[in-house]
Amino acid sequence: MTEPRLTVVIPMYNEEAVLPLLVARLRPVLDGLGRTYEVLAVDDGSRDDTAALVTLMRANWPQLRLVRLRRNSGHQAALTAGLHRSRGDYVVTIDADLQDPPEVIAQMLDLAEERDLDIVYGVRGDRASDTAFKRGTAGLYYRLMRSIVGKKMPYGAGDFRMLSRAMVDALRGLPEQTPVYRLLVPWLGFPSGEVTYVREKRAAGTSKYPLGKMIKLTVDSVISFTAAPLRLAIWLGAVGALACVIAAVKVLWAYWQGAVVPGWTSLSLVVLFLGACQLICLGLLGEYVGRIYQGIQGRPAYFIGSDSLTDAAEPDEPDFVEEPVRPRRAQGAARRG
Ligand code: UDP
Ligand code: MG
Repeated sequence: MTEPRLTVVIPMYNEEAVLPLLVARLRPVLDGLGRTYEVLAVDDGSRDDTAALVTLMRANWPQLRLVRLRRNSGHQAALTAGLHRSRGDYVVTIDADLQDPPEVIAQMLDLAEERDLDIVYGVRGDRASDTAFKRGTAGLYYRLMRSIVGKKMPYGAGDFRMLSRAMVDALRGLPEQTPVYRLLVPWLGFPSGEVTYVREKRAAGTSKYPLGKMIKLTVDSVISFTAAPLRLAIWLGAVGALACVIAAVKVLWAYWQGAVVPGWTSLSLVVLFLGACQLICLGLLGEYVGRIYQGIQGRPAYFIGSDSLTDAAEPDEPDFVEEPVRPRRAQGAARRG
C-alpha cells in the first residue's frame, strides 16, 4: 500500500442529504490536483444512511475510504479518529456540508508545499451566510480563545485546515482526552500560513451543532487550556470579603449608635450573593475535577467500528500470502504480544 500525498478527513453525522453534492464538488478538485489522495469519510455514528451511501459511492471512487465509529462521539472525536487513521503526507480536515469550499484545498496544498508549512489555516473572511446568532457566538468564542492561546490563533479559523504529517504525528503524541484542535494546533507552534475563503451556506440538511454542542466545545476549549476560571473563584472571594468588611463596619457603627434595624433585605442579599459565588466556584471546581476523573479513566474518545481500507486489505494482503505458515498457537501468541 503506497501512502497517498493527501488525505482529506471529513467527519459526517447524519449527512446523507449533502453527500451526493459533496462528492460531486470534491472529486473534480481532488482529481485535478495531480497528486495521489485518499478521502477518509469518518461516519460519527450516524443514524441515517450516511454509511450505506458512502459504501455505495466507494464502488465508483476507489480513493474513498469509510471509517465508522461505533457511536456518535462528537465532531472533535471524529476528527481525532480521522487524523489517527490518515496516511497522507498532508491531511486536510473539512466539514461535510460544503460550507468550506473544496476548491480551497488546492490553494492550501500549493501554499504548504511552496513554503514548506506544517499548518495552513482556512480563515473565514466573510460569514455572511451564517445566521446572526452564529456570527455573534462565534465572534465571542474567537475573542475568548485568542485571549487564552494568544494571537497565534487566527481570528475565524475553524476546523478547515491542512496539516503536515509531522504536525499530525505531534498531535497524536498528545494524551488529550478531549482535544480541541483549533486551540491545540496553534499552540504547538509549527510554521503556519493562511488561506482566506468565503464561508458558504450549508448545501443541504441541517446543522449538527446545536447550542448544547457549541457550549460543550467552548467549555472544553477553556478548561483544556487554562486554569484561569479557578483563579476567578479567588477573586470573587476577595471582592466578597472586602464587601463584607465594609458592611461589617457599617453594621457595627449602627449597633453602637443604637439604631439597630431589622436588616432583612441586606441580609438576604448577602446570603444570596455569597451562595451564588460559592455555587459558581463549586461548579468550576467540578469541571476540573471531572476532567481529572476522565483523565484517570483514560477512556478512548472513540471506538472504530470498521475501516474499509484495512477490512478490505486483510484477506488478500500480499505479505500475508507469502508469509511461511506458522503453527496456530505461535500465531495467537504473536497477535497477543
Ligand atoms: N459532526 C460530527 N459529529 C457530530 C456533529 C457534527 O461529525 O456530533 C460533523 C458534521 O457532519 C459536519 C461537521 O461536523 O461535517 C460540522 O458540523 P455542522 O456543519 O453541522 O456545524 P455548523 O457548521 O452548523 O457549526
Ligand atoms: Mg456546517
